[in-house]
Amino acid sequence: MNVVLISTYDLGHQPFGLASPAAWLKRVGASVKCFDLTVQKLEPPVIKKACLIGFFLPMHTATRQAIKIIQLVKQFNSKAHLCAYGLYAPLNKEFLSELGIQTFFGGEFEEGLLQLANVIKLNPNQLDKVTINQPPYISVARQEFCKPDRTNLPSLKNYAHLLTAGSKKVSGYTEASRGCQHHCKHCPIVPVYQGKFRVVQKEIVLQDIQQQINAGAEHITFGDPDFFNGVKHSLEIVRDLNRRYPQVSYDVTIKIEHLLRYASHLQSLKETGCLFITSAVESLDDHVLKLLNKGHTQNDFLKALELLSALELPLNPTFIPFTPWTSWKNYCELLDILLEKNLMECISPVQLAIRLLIPSESPLLELTEIQKVVKSFNKKKLSYSWKHPDPSIEGLYCQIQQQVYQGNSQGLSRSQIFASIWTLAHSKNPSEQHNSMTFPVQPSRTTIPFLEEPWYC
Ligand code: SF4
Repeated sequence: MNVVLISTYDLGHQPFGLASPAAWLKRVGASVKCFDLTVQKLEPPVIKKACLIGFFLPMHTATRQAIKIIQLVKQFNSKAHLCAYGLYAPLNKEFLSELGIQTFFGGEFEEGLLQLANVIKLNPNQLDKVTINQPPYISVARQEFCKPDRTNLPSLKNYAHLLTAGSKKVSGYTEASRGCQHHCKHCPIVPVYQGKFRVVQKEIVLQDIQQQINAGAEHITFGDPDFFNGVKHSLEIVRDLNRRYPQVSYDVTIKIEHLLRYASHLQSLKETGCLFITSAVESLDDHVLKLLNKGHTQNDFLKALELLSALELPLNPTFIPFTPWTSWKNYCELLDILLEKNLMECISPVQLAIRLLIPSESPLLELTEIQKVVKSFNKKKLSYSWKHPDPSIEGLYCQIQQQVYQGNSQGLSRSQIFASIWTLAHSKNPSEQHNSMTFPVQPSRTTIPFLEEPWYC
C-alpha cells in the first residue's frame, strides 16, 4: 500500500510529524513517501499511486498553506483517501471537510493513522467509503512510540541552522512530549489536549537524537510545548544526551511559571548544554496576562529573567503585543522594559508585531471582551477577524509590521529594528512628548544564539 505524508511548514525543522508516522506505517508494511514542501516539490507520479495521503497540520501557517496543496493533490489523484492530522486538523475539521479531507486526527495521531491504513489495506477498492471510529477524532491516549523514520526526508542541512558566536550549526529537532497541562486561553493546544500532556518514551527520544547527530546535527531543538511539563522525564533525557554527546547543544521552551517553580533545575539545563530557553511571555501587562490565563505576572517575568541571567542562559521571549487590550501605554511600556533589560538582541523583531490569533474553537471566544470585538470566522484566514476599538492602535500595528518587514529586508540587526520600533511607537504615542533615545551598543547578534527561523504560530 502506498502512503504519502505531506508537510507544508514546520518552523524550519525537519518535521517530526512526518518522521514519526512514517515509522509507524512502515511497521505494517506500507510504502511511505514523505514530502516536506518547504524544501521539496511534490512528485505527481508518486501522488498518483497513493491510496492514502496525509497532511500534517501542526500550526496555523501550515494549515493555510495546505489549502492550495490539498486542491492540487486532488487534481493528481481523485481516488486516494485524504486525511489531515496534527493540532490544527480537528480545529479546522469543517472547512477541511469542504476541501475533501475525509479523516481527521488530533493530539496523539500515530495510532489513528495506523488504524486508518489498516482499514484501507482491507478495502483497497473502496477508498471513498473508508471510515474508522470517528468521532472521536482527537486522541490523548498514551502511545508506545517507535523511532521516527527520517531516511526519507531531506538532509538536515536544508533546515534552519543555529547561529552562534561566529558559527552556523546544523540543527535537529525532536519532541520529548506533546500537549500541555495548562489552559492558556489563546493556545491552540488547549482545545485538543484539554490540560493533558503525553510523553515520548525516553529511549525513543534519545534514538531519534542519535540518528540526527549521525546525520550531522550539532544542536537539537526540543519542540515540546513546555519542556518542564514532565520535568523528571525531560531532565533524564538531557542528562543522558549530555553524557552520550557532550559536544551537542540544545534549546527548549519553558513557561515563566515553570522557570520559577523549577528554578533549582535551571543549572542542570545549563550544565547539560542548553543554549537558550524560549518562553511564551505574550505580554508584560498583568491585566492582559490574567485574561490570557498565562499563570505569570510582569514581576514573575523579571524574576525569571534574573535567574537566567545569573546562569548566563539567554531567554528568548515571545510576545503577542497586539490584542484587543493593547494600549499606547502598554505597548510603549513593553518596549521600555525590553530596552531596560537589554533584551533587544534576544527578541526576533517579528515578535513585536504579532497579532492575537483567534482560531476556530479557541477558548478566547469565552471572554466577553473578545466577543465584543470579534467578527465572523474568516475561512480564508482560518481565524476570527477582530478589530481593535481604537483605530490608532490598528494604525500602529500596520506601521510596526511594515517597520519589521523593511528592517529585515534591509538586513538590519535586531537592535537596529528594535530602535526604529521604539522610536516610532514613542513618537506617535498621543499622550507623550516626543522622546529621543540613545540606544546602548549591543553585542553582535550572533553572540546570543538563536535559530534562523523565528518562532511564531
Ligand atoms: S503553557 Fe504554553 S503550551 Fe501550555 S497552554 Fe499555555 S501557551 Fe499553551
